[in-house]
Amino acid sequence: MPEYKKIPILESARRCGLVLNQRTLRRSEIEASCPFCGDHGAGKYHLFLNTSTDQYHCILCNASGNSVTLYAKVKGLTNREAFLELDGDGSIYPMPRQPSSPYTEPQPRELAERDRVYSDMLSLLTLSERHREDLLRRGLSEERIERNRYRSMPETENGRRLLAGLLMGCGHDLHGIPGFRTRYNSWTLAGANGFLIPVRTKDGLIQGLKIRLDVENGGKYRWLSSRNMPNGTRSYSWVHVTGNTASKRAFITEGPLKGDIASFLDNDALFVCIGGVGSLHGLKETILDLGVTEVVEAMDMDQYTNPQARKAVLAMRRELNSIPDLKVSKYVWDPAYKGVDDFYQARAAAV
Ligand SMILES: [Zn+2]
Repeated sequence: MPEYKKIPILESARRCGLVLNQRTLRRSEIEASCPFCGDHGAGKYHLFLNTSTDQYHCILCNASGNSVTLYAKVKGLTNREAFLELDGDGSIYPMPRQPSSPYTEPQPRELAERDRVYSDMLSLLTLSERHREDLLRRGLSEERIERNRYRSMPETENGRRLLAGLLMGCGHDLHGIPGFRTRYNSWTLAGANGFLIPVRTKDGLIQGLKIRLDVENGGKYRWLSSRNMPNGTRSYSWVHVTGNTASKRAFITEGPLKGDIASFLDNDALFVCIGGVGSLHGLKETILDLGVTEVVEAMDMDQYTNPQARKAVLAMRRELNSIPDLKVSKYVWDPAYKGVDDFYQARAAAV
């Protein structure tokens, strides 16, 4: 093994023709466009050049190494050839060139495979007492909470790595499964803490998972996704089906948990839950697939007063009206209750 003379990482980057972020040139860590992943789009700088260790690391694709291996990889040389060129006289500094991004965003794997991984994942997780109490407060029963398989996100990085490791031990490949990503070359789970809500097809297969974030993380709903992370995968706004799928009438609401609760409180009424009032993708297919003859809008009451949301509701209605022979109506309840689930819960409490 020859003893390599130290080659500054910036020298190597310049000789590779990397595009450098001019504003970072005086820093100990200089940013550059990544020649390996193209930063998933032009004009970004995900490659970090550490001028004290002379190492590089892309925070997007995880490519890493030293000044010699950088040059070797970019130029297609062996490390020895790279060293000899870098160490030789007559340095050539090519014009920096924006890396072309050969990148197309990784897509989630097919439904059956996502369902297999997510089902096993839920089997390995538990629901914390705090989250169980939250779900009980929303009107669900212990039995329904069990059946719907809500689970708490593993709260520590160790727990998340362990989960990923166990899933791989079961023979699962985590590429293409939204939520999973690598960090320093080992698989882990992305996403803030909260509880997971399985989003299912009419046949009960898990499309994806939504996280109800803990209050300290904002208390909102987010898809479990690892978009733009190393080896990560985006999620889509999948439609959730809950309740009696033999029913000829479906209620439409926004958000899978709202639908689960309303269906439970209304004798397993069939609910079709869209991911957001503006995300209609998959709605028409789901309605057709269910073979219902009637749909009833049960959107939150504020959707009818907020002009932005109202526009989205009208777009949804047009989509529904384009389905032949489908009766579309609007569910009206006491506007004192914001959502259909709140209304049902109050009604159940009053009995
Ligand atoms: Zn990269």
